Amino acid sequence: MGSMRGIEFDVVIVGSGIAGLFTALRCTQRGLSVLVVTKSRIASSSTNWAQGGIAAVLDVDDEKAIEAHVLDTISSGKGLCDEEVVRSVVSEAAHRISDLVSFGVGFDSGIDGYHKAREGGHSEARILHAKDRTGAEIEGALEAATSEKGMMGLVIKEDWMAIDIIQKKHGDPLSGVCGIWCLKSDGLVETIRGSAVILATGGCGMLYNSTTNPTIATGDGVAMASRCGADIRDMEFIQFHPTALEGQERPFLITEAMRGHGAVLMTVEDHIRWRKEGGSVADWSYMKKYSPMGSLGTRDVVARATDAELKMSGESHVLLVTEHLDVNSLRDSFPTICERLEEQGLSLGPDPIPVRPAAHYLVGGISVDRFGRSLKDGEVIPGLYAIGETACTGLHGANRLASNSLLEAVVFAERCSEHVSEFAPEVNKIEHIPDWRAEGLSELIEHAPLGTDLLALRNMMTRDVGLVKSDSRLMRARRRVSHLEDELENIWRGSLPTRELVELRNLIICAGLIIESSIKRRENVGLHYNIDLE
Ligand SMILES: Cc1cc2nc3c(=O)[nH]c(=O)nc-3n(C[C@H](O)[C@H](O)[C@H](O)COP(=O)(O)OP(=O)(O)OC[C@H]3O[C@@H](n4cnc5c(N)ncnc54)[C@H](O)[C@@H]3O)c2cc1C
Repeated sequence: MGSMRGIEFDVVIVGSGIAGLFTALRCTQRGLSVLVVTKSRIASSSTNWAQGGIAAVLDVDDEKAIEAHVLDTISSGKGLCDEEVVRSVVSEAAHRISDLVSFGVGFDSGIDGYHKAREGGHSEARILHAKDRTGAEIEGALEAATSEKGMMGLVIKEDWMAIDIIQKKHGDPLSGVCGIWCLKSDGLVETIRGSAVILATGGCGMLYNSTTNPTIATGDGVAMASRCGADIRDMEFIQFHPTALEGQERPFLITEAMRGHGAVLMTVEDHIRWRKEGGSVADWSYMKKYSPMGSLGTRDVVARATDAELKMSGESHVLLVTEHLDVNSLRDSFPTICERLEEQGLSLGPDPIPVRPAAHYLVGGISVDRFGRSLKDGEVIPGLYAIGETACTGLHGANRLASNSLLEAVVFAERCSEHVSEFAPEVNKIEHIPDWRAEGLSELIEHAPLGTDLLALRNMMTRDVGLVKSDSRLMRARRRVSHLEDELENIWRGSLPTRELVELRNLIICAGLIIESSIKRRENVGLHYNIDLE
């Protein structure tokens, strides 16, 4: 669908994780022309790295089980979940699992249907999974489905990076949006027109020194939407995963399902003593002091407890102990983790696993309604949608329950595609569309200052805006980020865009949003913890 004025599709989707690909498939099935742009390879996504699984009650008539999933989600969200959203998402889970299966996703089977695992914060076993590589199974199946017959209206462009959303009237969000500008691998910027723009860009873990996220996680969707005037909410709630493998440049995640399987957290010192003195393994866990669920407490509790223990001991890691468990069952359930440990000379089962917390999940994001439509002061921005991790739907409240994010992504992807198919092309007849402002810009010669600024930003976020915040650290972070913003703006105004430049610009915006939300939140709740509010 090329034209002299850029290219045009009914729907432009930014991102090729579960949210982007599922929406793309469903919109195409509904007869729309769809372009997916993705800034790296298709499978470069958090989705592809998800291990544990997807939470779902499969029997739609089992009210007790549905209620239990609702209550676990609300309890994890510490009173800040939108209960209507929670109930609707949990109730739609079974249908979306059927959709995933129909696209070729293979979940592990058990005695009566699918095998269900249990993870931290869940009162029942309800996590569907494919061994410990559920995300790769989902990503692979959805990617394969995009090249099936019947998907002729779907185009996917790798190495195309969305830079900004095009508004119908610049500076007037409620006039709606009509496309995006996209940086291609040849360095040129393409103008893409679309009746609907769907942001499915994932999280922003790259803001922190230690993260479980892939490098694509630079908060691009949140930053683009924010520049476009959209409401961004709950950014203070960054989830740190308590058990990322220590000693790796990019921390590898040890799934919560491992603790569901019986693994127990211990300090290095207590592990030595347990080996000497013996006794119940759970009794030696520091988690006994912090949660009645012990090592299976919710992530916020476990991550902060671990952070506190590390600060006390001065160690760089705690240990996830599995030597009391059946080795064969462990290796059968967690083959990928087993392989990764072996690469580090560790044997799953006999060897304790050194772990520490790492930035993992963005609970907040672009504020959306029940169809994934983005909002400005509570009113819909016509044509702009956000789904998956970049969106904030109200499901998670102050803390995400494990394995609820893939579920949220797929539920909202379905609702969004349904809404777009019904309404977007009518709402959004496109007239004039401006080209990217390239005149007068020169190539960025020196990338070194960007690297230095990125390092400074990540150090600051890790130290001052991480698991434990304080008023004075937040104020210092606010001043620093404002300085970085000025520096970056100077470069941005005079340079042709590069991926590094665009990402740093977006990360700085996300940092600012996290800091401001953290300053505003005057109570310690869920993932937000400020020592001055104790
Ligand atoms: C290690 C790990 C394990 C996890 N395990 C689980 C689990 O077991 N269960 C669970 O429910 N959740 C889990 N999560 C969280 C879950 O995987 C993510 O929340 C979810 O996959 C997000 O899906 P998404 O489609 O929103 O984003 P992603 O899957 O991250 O996809 C984002 C896409 O957007 C693209 N993109 C970003 N910016 C741009 C741009 N400017 N232009 C073009 N493309 C862009 C990226 O390249 C990518 O294709 C895990 C996360 C990690 C990192």
